[in-house]
Amino acid sequence: MKHFYCSVFGHNYQVTKKVTYHVKEYTCKHCKEQVTTNGNGKLTLLTPKHKEINSVLERIHSKRIKSRKSLILDR
Ligand SMILES: [Zn+2]
Repeated sequence: MKHFYCSVFGHNYQVTKKVTYHVKEYTCKHCKEQVTTNGNGKLTLLTPKHKEINSVLERIHSKRIKSRKSLILDR
């Protein structure tokens, strides 16, 4: 059920997790609804499927950062 505030003013999303530079997870301050950025850069409901995708993305993303750092250290 939608929070009264949200149905009047719209959701007030706050970033709860940064998955990659482009993909983030948000939670509404009022009704606790969770959304995430999808492949089209739009917000979509954070379903278990999306959580799974995001955790994979996050792993790949942090690996990339680590390998970039080790590249710099190797020089
Ligand atoms: Zn809301």
